[in-house]
Amino acid sequence: MSISENRRSFIKKLGAGSLALPFFSTKGFSQPKIDYKGKKLGIAIVGLGYYGTKRILPGIDASPYWELTGIVTGTPSKISEYKEKYNLKDGNILNYENYDKLIDCKDIDVVYICLPNGMHSEYTIRAAKAGKHVITEKPMANTPEECEAMIKACEENKVKLAVGYRCHFEPFNMEAMRYGREKTFGDINYIQSMFGFKAGDPKQWRLNAKLSGGGPLMDVGIYCVNAARYVKNIEPRSVSANFGPVTDKTRFSEVEESLSWHIEFPDDTVFTGFTSYNSNVQLFHAAGNKGWFELQPAFSYGPLKGKTSEGPIDMEVVHHQTYQMNGMGPLFLSKDSMPDHCSGLEGLKDSKILSAIYASAKAGGKRIMLDA
Ligand code: NAD
Repeated sequence: MSISENRRSFIKKLGAGSLALPFFSTKGFSQPKIDYKGKKLGIAIVGLGYYGTKRILPGIDASPYWELTGIVTGTPSKISEYKEKYNLKDGNILNYENYDKLIDCKDIDVVYICLPNGMHSEYTIRAAKAGKHVITEKPMANTPEECEAMIKACEENKVKLAVGYRCHFEPFNMEAMRYGREKTFGDINYIQSMFGFKAGDPKQWRLNAKLSGGGPLMDVGIYCVNAARYVKNIEPRSVSANFGPVTDKTRFSEVEESLSWHIEFPDDTVFTGFTSYNSNVQLFHAAGNKGWFELQPAFSYGPLKGKTSEGPIDMEVVHHQTYQMNGMGPLFLSKDSMPDHCSGLEGLKDSKILSAIYASAKAGGKRIMLDA
């Protein structure tokens, strides 16, 4: 089979068929052309901040599977813009206090939670009790216990739970996933990944432990951990980690400024990584016994770039959130349960690893074994 035939058959296996369709360009990003004319899923955005309005909303607008039918905001001045543009019903405009009235919002099928990490659990559980399916942004929640409570609430209320792992629907990351799983460059025995940026505003929720659950590891280091897992397609056996130096004691009094880790997989693959709120770094590199591949930048809106020991990786540069919404549309329309790779179970797996990384760093780098 040729490389592109391999790619097509891999995408089909993952159930992300929209990636194989033709592209047209809009606002600098390639967009898939999907011929879906069925009923749209009504979705409400919970939290009209940066990610909800600047990335998720354009993704909803560009996808034929979704329409914005509600908003949840604590800032009344934000309402009129969205109410007018999307012709929202008054009853579908909620705030954090009357959020449980979701139960009466018949044309909201799914809520997309774009709140600070420490609020994901409460707002997922309340939505589930109101009978609404949920997509929550990454990280799924602050702790594995919160993730477990979210999964339980969604199961008990028979609603679906997805985590906004947009890279699972993004072509460069899917190609890296395919190389790892199909052993295109042989057996991978070393992975290095890092993701960091300079966090500005000292008053932002990302620096508040209760709202963020932690520092850059929770925010962006999670992409490195998730990618190593989806490329290897097996779960790590141990972690050890160390906090980096604190150069700004005012801003980093509650969460780490940087952190590095050493993770091992059961097949002896070593995965080293770094995350920071004080360095602009972004890389995923995997070395196999027949060659190597890497993405740099690997996880942001990029534009992403990739190369291998055999040459450049030639993929479309896409709007990640549109791809995620296109990928998730059929999953929410279907009667089947959410596939594990973007479900609450995937969020829980990452959360357990992040939690072990913190436990190790707090114990001065002690090696911690993970559950098989
Ligand atoms: P943001 O600060 O821009 O938005 C947060 C929203 O939550 C705002 O509307 C704010 O008003 C609201 N909010 C409600 N209660 C709050 C409180 N007590 N404190 C602070 N804000 C409160 O943040 P963001 O960058 O949009 O991040 C939101 C979520 O999206 C986070 O979980 C983050 O990890 C995730 N995110 C994901 C990506 C991605 O690429 N997938 C990128 C950025 C952010």
